[in-house]
Amino acid sequence: MEKLINIHTHGLIAQGAITILNRMHNEEIPSEYSGYLSMGLHPMHSDQLTPELLVSIEEQVISNKKIIAIGEIGLDKLCHVYLSSQITAFREQLKLADKHSLPCIIHNVRATDEILREYNQSGNSHPLIFHGFRGKPVIAKQILSAGGYLSFGRAITTKDDATIASFLKTPTNKLFLETDEATDVTIEEVYKAAAMLKQISEEELISEISTNFARLFTERE
Ligand SMILES: [Zn+2]
Repeated sequence: MEKLINIHTHGLIAQGAITILNRMHNEEIPSEYSGYLSMGLHPMHSDQLTPELLVSIEEQVISNKKIIAIGEIGLDKLCHVYLSSQITAFREQLKLADKHSLPCIIHNVRATDEILREYNQSGNSHPLIFHGFRGKPVIAKQILSAGGYLSFGRAITTKDDATIASFLKTPTNKLFLETDEATDVTIEEVYKAAAMLKQISEEELISEISTNFARLFTERE
């Protein structure tokens, strides 16, 4: 039986699920944790970018084969850091990801146009995963048309109509699920809600998402 996959979390680790735990370059990796990791400079910290910090992220990527994605990276128009600093950090990390053939996990707040523009100009050929997607189908469609994947979390377990409409329009071969920062919802509950909304069995959903995972991520061992 294939496993549930939590594509993005900051702490919630379910036994028996495949997990990508997000760590910032200076965040400790729990010693008992043996799952996958994503690593990167969050847009909120982009003003801390230095050549040394980029080297430090790259060294960790090279030495830790459990890091299978760069993230979360991206652009956030509601955070206090200048967009120009965010764009610089985003560009550098798109390059880094491409150099090491790793997909990126994207943090996007009201910056879909800019993210897709930077991605298209970067020459990065790996699909982007827009994590924690919330919003209208028109935005979802824009990302899907650009070849991106969408990951949904807690919002689809609530009465967030716009996000649920976007979720329903997302084909299962472009879909991931996650818990992100939520502590009040488990990955099992997100899968349950997702299967119910899509009116497919949980087994089918698990299998579709496993196929997506295998398409995008490769073992680095
Ligand atoms: Zn996150």
